Amino acid sequence: MCSPEVAKVVRERIHKEGVPNLSRRNFLKLGGTAAASGAVASVFGVAAPALAQSTEGQVVDLSHVFGTDIPTYLLDEKPKRETYVTVENDGFYIQRWTYTEHAGTHVDIPAHFVADGETVDNYPAELLIGPGIVIDISAKAAENADAALEVADIEAWEAANGEIPAGAIVFLYSAWDAKWDDAEAFRNADADGVQHYPGFSAEAATFLLENRDIRGIGVDTLSLDIGASTTFDVHVSILSAGKFGIEGVANLAAIKDHVPATIFVGVPRWEAGSGGPARLLALI
Ligand SMILES: [Zn+2]
Repeated sequence: MCSPEVAKVVRERIHKEGVPNLSRRNFLKLGGTAAASGAVASVFGVAAPALAQSTEGQVVDLSHVFGTDIPTYLLDEKPKRETYVTVENDGFYIQRWTYTEHAGTHVDIPAHFVADGETVDNYPAELLIGPGIVIDISAKAAENADAALEVADIEAWEAANGEIPAGAIVFLYSAWDAKWDDAEAFRNADADGVQHYPGFSAEAATFLLENRDIRGIGVDTLSLDIGASTTFDVHVSILSAGKFGIEGVANLAAIKDHVPATIFVGVPRWEAGSGGPARLLALI
């Protein structure tokens, strides 16, 4: 929808019919997304989708804002953005972004580490929803940036909460997300460029794969492995098993006492993707 012809049609229709009023109040009155997209769709003359069922409970956004100053594993992965067209000049507003698939709150899919592994466009949608649980290692992470989530942390969580449910997405909460707005502190690289932040231990990942039924794991840092890892054992074992990882998760503190929460991994079907930026939502 970027051609001058489309812009002209949109401008003329908006002039004739007025802009659909999508203020929050009207948006909710219309019945949320489906009705609103219907209003937008009517501008383009296509049928509105069926009205979605409303959901009970509270939705917690587990995604950070995707921006140009976000912390990234590699320094040259910083996203870039530019204004592509504007309402003033073109009738609508679009930005153009340049970034790697592993920037921001994002998903790692088997193809990230496995040659011929599943890519994100073909990854089964039913595996991208599941019960999420949160294992809190923030106390030891505050003492030691190289702290890992160990098998003992899983056992302690299960002693208090019962066995990890089938199909779970297991999150590591280290409270690292509080540093997100300070990219240098988040990467926490030493003089040699080695990064220091928490992740899963290789043994914990193996334990989950061999003894529990999980869909994937997630961390509030930049890597499933601890930042100082050079062998990426957790990436290799989780992705080789066909599971997924989620990195740069936000707001786990808001759901850790409401588990299992229903997690929606809203990763787009990037063509041939090794994963990619995602909207990650929890329903508690
Ligand atoms: Zn990644």
